[in-house]
Amino acid sequence: MQNIAVIGSGTMGNGIAHVFAQKGFQVSLIDISESALARGIQNITVNLERQIKKGLLTESDKNETLQRVKTFTSVADGVANAELVVEAASENIEVKLEIFRQLDKLAPSGAILATNTSSISITKIGSVTQRPEQVIGMHFMNPVPVMKLVEVIRGYSTSNEVTASIMDISRGLDKVPVEVNDYPGFVSNRILMPMLNEAIETLFEGVAGVEEIDTVMKLGMAHPMGPLQLADFIGLDVCLAILRVLQEGFGNPKYAPCPLLVNMVQAGHLGSKTGKGFYLWSKDSKELVVADRFRK
Ligand code: NAD
Repeated sequence: MQNIAVIGSGTMGNGIAHVFAQKGFQVSLIDISESALARGIQNITVNLERQIKKGLLTESDKNETLQRVKTFTSVADGVANAELVVEAASENIEVKLEIFRQLDKLAPSGAILATNTSSISITKIGSVTQRPEQVIGMHFMNPVPVMKLVEVIRGYSTSNEVTASIMDISRGLDKVPVEVNDYPGFVSNRILMPMLNEAIETLFEGVAGVEEIDTVMKLGMAHPMGPLQLADFIGLDVCLAILRVLQEGFGNPKYAPCPLLVNMVQAGHLGSKTGKGFYLWSKDSKELVVADRFRK
């Protein structure tokens, strides 16, 4: 396999393009927005430079990697030669279903269509194509060049051959793939999101403050980041959306989002991306500062 197309040039899409290009694949990076494509290339450049500083890469590796990434705003042009398409567009079911309807028409008939979705059913996405056996979840973690895991999610109809192929390709990217079945939240978010929600509930009930909760989990459970810090980092809107998928998918009230999380999302306090969540976030400082509202 040589030719990969990546749909969406945001946080995840540019990271996915980066790791494929670095391993010698020709990558078509596709987005509806020219400015997102420009930002994507800029991020890949900055991340490659970081790898040079750490002694992991040479200047010529960087240039060769960048030369292997071509940008497109036309899906038809971008996927014309693709053997694998990895979709990493916005986490919105209507957007994804429309992209997969298009991909089914435009990508070569043998191409595997993968999605990086965090929570949308792979089976549902596959069902809008004529090739559900070639549709699979390829769930990279953020930041993609650093994180080792790829959660490989088999939809109800995904074939053994396609699954084996995606497991192999992931290993070729120096990642560790783990195969799981397609149920709400897969494995990663089914376990992570209830933990984050419980941390928010613990704060909401006044059991302990933001720093206390995060410190217990960091020092007591050896988590590199506390759950409230992690929720801010992921985005509180994203956490809320995934909890709703779990709640609806299993019909079990244990997944109901904490009212504090709902309120914060409604108030637009979404975590690091808006500068405010459980902590205050500024580009100039790495110091963790608890948001005013949660200070004692
Ligand atoms: P993002 O908002 O940073 O980027 C999404 C990009 O998709 C944007 O550049 C947008 O212009 C583009 N886009 C939207 N509609 C499009 C279309 N029809 N065609 C082409 N491009 C389109 O989002 P992200 O954080 O990179 O997330 C992308 C996917 O990865 C989502 O499914 C998300 O759930 C998943 N994911 C995110 C993370 C994370 O930590 N951010 C981790 C794992 C998985």
